[in-house]
Amino acid sequence: MKATARLQLVCGECGPCKRGQYNACQKLKVRGFQAPGVAQFALTRGASKVLITDVSDYRLNIVRQCGIGGTLHIKNNSFEDGVKSFFGNEGFQVGFEAAGVQASLDNLMQFVEKGGDIVILGVYSRNPVVNMFYLGEYELNVYGSMMYRHEDYEAAVEMICPGKIMTSPLLTGSFPFNRYLDAYKFIDEQGDRIMKVMIEM
Ligand SMILES: [Zn+2]
Repeated sequence: MKATARLQLVCGECGPCKRGQYNACQKLKVRGFQAPGVAQFALTRGASKVLITDVSDYRLNIVRQCGIGGTLHIKNNSFEDGVKSFFGNEGFQVGFEAAGVQASLDNLMQFVEKGGDIVILGVYSRNPVVNMFYLGEYELNVYGSMMYRHEDYEAAVEMICPGKIMTSPLLTGSFPFNRYLDAYKFIDEQGDRIMKVMIEM
């Protein structure tokens, strides 16, 4: 048997909690840590094409193992050229900024189709500059997104259990519970080659 648990600890009493936005609870605590979300959901939800950009060949290879054909090494290629060759004249209508990086936000705002949506998933160490020219001229919609709510978590479990979402390529290592400190050491040593590490209970 395999089991999972939602990681959020929320107060249930603040304004966001009372509005049902407990994922943005003012006293939110998270067990574990945040990590980039997976493009497989976009495909299972009906996106015809998904392109992932990264600066790591290792991570882009993992992306391809998950069945995502569109990958672009953003240090070696221009975003504009990559988008044109992958999406052609159709362009793209939704961009997820998951890196928390200014250049990534700039690329999405400049090259998304007019009237498109930008979803902010990344955590920014510095307050980024938002290009108000593209925001207004392209009539873009920029959405904040803080983790997930219970129904999102259930939807994820329902897709992972029957194998609609592949998780095995995302697993970098596995440690028994009594060696959990070794797991953290392993994570530190792997650098950008780390995806997910499991602790066996
Ligand atoms: Zn709360």
